Amino acid sequence: MALTFKEVRRLFQVPSRGRVRLSDYDPGWAADEEFKELTKDELKAHAAGLLEKNKADLAKAQERLYASDTHSVLIVLQASDAAGKDGTIKHVMSGVNPQGCQIYAFKKPSSEELDHNFLWRYMKALPERGRIGIFNRSYYEDVLVVRVHPELVGRLPGSDRAKDFWQGRYDDINAFEQHLTRSGTLVLKFLLNVSKKVQRQRFLERLERPEKHWKFSISDLEERKYWSDYQKAFEQMLQNTSTDHAPWWVIPADNKWVTRTLVAGIITRSIEGMGLEFPTVSDKDRERLEAARIELSAGK
Ligand code: ATP
Ligand code: MG
Repeated sequence: MALTFKEVRRLFQVPSRGRVRLSDYDPGWAADEEFKELTKDELKAHAAGLLEKNKADLAKAQERLYASDTHSVLIVLQASDAAGKDGTIKHVMSGVNPQGCQIYAFKKPSSEELDHNFLWRYMKALPERGRIGIFNRSYYEDVLVVRVHPELVGRLPGSDRAKDFWQGRYDDINAFEQHLTRSGTLVLKFLLNVSKKVQRQRFLERLERPEKHWKFSISDLEERKYWSDYQKAFEQMLQNTSTDHAPWWVIPADNKWVTRTLVAGIITRSIEGMGLEFPTVSDKDRERLEAARIELSAGK
């Protein structure tokens, strides 16, 4: 994709002000104009080339992050089922040094987790300085699945949920991310935006191909019945938590190569934009290193 980062921003970054409509973001976007002359195979080859280049750039950016040891990066991935979270993580991170990367998948909270404030379990899993942390699902589940199924809200003080309960959660999340940003963590949030039609195709594929059966779970079909509730919850989440310090990116997810290329590109450009430097060696240390080199080369 020959898009500049500015264009990528304009197309996929959710503004921090004004009304947000999910319908403004096309799940099937595939840079069609640019690639309409290409056959499917040519397009695939082109995408593979792009991803290789992106992976190499990301590996370099990560090395700088690790070496400078001053900042960290938190990548938040949210999506409907079958939107491609796992595949995106696998492809995007396949080129980076595993030592510098921590991945957490958040499932239904345990009873111990439910006995704490809702941010507790996520706080414990934040990336260390110098590292990239990936949250495969995140504290945003607490305003998504929990908003769609309010009976999942744990025990609260008082007998009823307050009227502005959800607004309170958005405010808490914004403050939490503000705190992370101030502490040197870059927060990158991706919503993989798949269409209902393509989700159906991917579910069917999982059911029709025995080697993909393990990927299908009956509960995914159950959640699909709440599609429009989830779309509303996504929209509310974007509207209330896309901020200047931690904006959302809505990534087209009907074409896997588009998703992977965009996510890898955005992560790389964002880390590059942090202006990190490799640590410098002082004159004194350089003298010591030279002395060590002489000692070793003298065979001592
Ligand atoms: P995959 O299906 O690819 O393994 P997944 O992320 O869908 O990955 P599942 O075990 O299928 O993993 O689903 C995890 C479930 O946990 C999801 O339905 C999600 O909505 C739910 N979940 C995650 N966080 C919370 C939360 N804070 N409260 C309630 N449910 C949650
Ligand atoms: Mg699942």
